[in-house]
Amino acid sequence: MPDIECRIAESMVTQYINHSLSVDELEEFLDHISHCSSCYDELETYFIVHEAIQQLDEPEDGSALDFRKLLDQDIRKSRRYIRKKRWFHFLAGLLLAVFAVLLLIFVIFFITDIAHFL
Ligand SMILES: [Zn+2]
Repeated sequence: MPDIECRIAESMVTQYINHSLSVDELEEFLDHISHCSSCYDELETYFIVHEAIQQLDEPEDGSALDFRKLLDQDIRKSRRYIRKKRWFHFLAGLLLAVFAVLLLIFVIFFITDIAHFL
């Protein structure tokens, strides 16, 4: 799979944070930042700013949050999300295939059944 460019990855950073990337885009983005430290740093910066702003709206619990750990968790969560989506996609395809085969069998039986009466 061809890797996306830094230019594209950088444009995906805010979309990643806003959770508005498609599953394919998300996977490309995560693959890119997993080996491109400059884009990862870019994401980290945006993520920290975003989380810090969110923190302002939430009551202070006294503990300083580890943003790097949060980002790490967020990335892992995104990976799980991709796997889940792919799995559902696969299952849906499988069910559709099974359904199509059952329908075909039914139609064949139906036709042969009618043929007996003719
Ligand atoms: Zn990059």
